[in-house]
Amino acid sequence: MTQPPAMEDGFARVPLGRDWPDIRDAVRAICAKYPGAYWRALEDSGGFATEFVAELTEAGFLAALIPEEFGGSGLPLRAGGVILEEIHASGCEGNTCHAQMYMMHMLVKHGDAAQKARYLPGVASGAIRFQSFGVTEPATGSNTLELRTTATRDGDSYVVNGQKIWTSRALHSDLMTLLVRTTPLDRVKRRTDGLSILLVDIREAKGAGMTIRPIETMVNHQTNEIFFDNLRVPAGNLVGEEGMGFRYILDGMNSERILLAHESIGDARFFLDKAVAYARERVVFNRPIGQNQGVQFPLARAYSEYRGADLMTRAAAALFQAGQTCGDEANLAKMQSGEAAWNAAEACLQTHGGFGVAREYDIERKWRAARVQRIAPISTNMVLAYIGHGVLGLPKSY
Ligand SMILES: Cc1cc2nc3c(=O)[nH]c(=O)nc-3n(C[C@H](O)[C@H](O)[C@H](O)COP(=O)(O)OP(=O)(O)OC[C@H]3O[C@@H](n4cnc5c(N)ncnc54)[C@H](O)[C@@H]3O)c2cc1C
Repeated sequence: MTQPPAMEDGFARVPLGRDWPDIRDAVRAICAKYPGAYWRALEDSGGFATEFVAELTEAGFLAALIPEEFGGSGLPLRAGGVILEEIHASGCEGNTCHAQMYMMHMLVKHGDAAQKARYLPGVASGAIRFQSFGVTEPATGSNTLELRTTATRDGDSYVVNGQKIWTSRALHSDLMTLLVRTTPLDRVKRRTDGLSILLVDIREAKGAGMTIRPIETMVNHQTNEIFFDNLRVPAGNLVGEEGMGFRYILDGMNSERILLAHESIGDARFFLDKAVAYARERVVFNRPIGQNQGVQFPLARAYSEYRGADLMTRAAAALFQAGQTCGDEANLAKMQSGEAAWNAAEACLQTHGGFGVAREYDIERKWRAARVQRIAPISTNMVLAYIGHGVLGLPKSY
């Protein structure tokens, strides 16, 4: 029988050339110190990956997108994506630390000089953990424009009241980005007006009008509900102009979608590597199971989807970096990579038969995480709705 090609770089290797090879190698070297057993133990204890995040911070990876003048590396979005892709391809979890990467552009682009000087060097060094993004609310869900958390100006503060849900990492973050309504919906011309962004110092806010309650989920995502009861936030923590927050947050959302698309690309590589290796090795009925087309074709299809999603993700990152409109590509990349990773996860789990559900193989852990990527930060339906009415010009459903 002809020998299959060597799998030096993993079968689902980076197909268009290994851009940022030094970063990829260095991230993988760190990830190698945090194998599946580390993540399984955290799931058992409900713990947070403090050591993993500290090591990535120490190595400068979480400051990759912060401009050099504030102590970061000033690298393009693609480099940040490559870091997250390698974390995921290694079986580790980017949700422990990805938020500061995607919130950075919003702060760099729309924050004032005092805010940047106050926060960015600390974020770059790791002294300030900037990992929480409070948008979603229990009553309004995907309908962000109708969110109900309000901030009312009172002297040199804003007084915040309301509730957020699914705010990830709030208990492991010092600073959060909070989207609030500063002008009631019935007093604005457009629904996108009247929303504002506040930087909330969680260290000061906890117990002084802000209460954080963890939510148990099927993944160790460290997500929470947050209650605001007359929380006072200094007016100097308003990002940009009052009422313009939704426009600013769109910048953050595009970078979030593109960066998280890279995570799904990494997941797809993880699943394909594992599944292809197993399908070659596992012999049943006197043949490798991968010789059966019932096993082979789902893997081939998942590989095809992963390659397409990788191209879209690279295109979205390039447009973002060039300062061009990239909402369509950011959404497409997020959806396509999320679907590719999920189909690879399904094929991988099925290929492993009973071993797919054994915890020590780490497939079921990553499978659960890949499932969440089809819901958060944007659900597949909302991307389809965006394409339907925003791109194809079909009537809007909401
Ligand atoms: C693990 C996890 C971490 C998260 N982290 C954060 C975070 O850090 N910060 C944050 O702000 N949010 C976070 N989220 C929230 C996430 O962004 C939302 O769950 C997501 O946007 C969907 O909102 P929802 O859960 O309220 O669903 P809903 O809006 O209630 O929707 C429920 C379902 O109905 C579908 N649906 C709703 N309206 C339509 C329509 N018009 N057409 C078609 N389908 C529709 C949706 O697609 C979805 O499948 C997180 C969520 C999870 C699960």
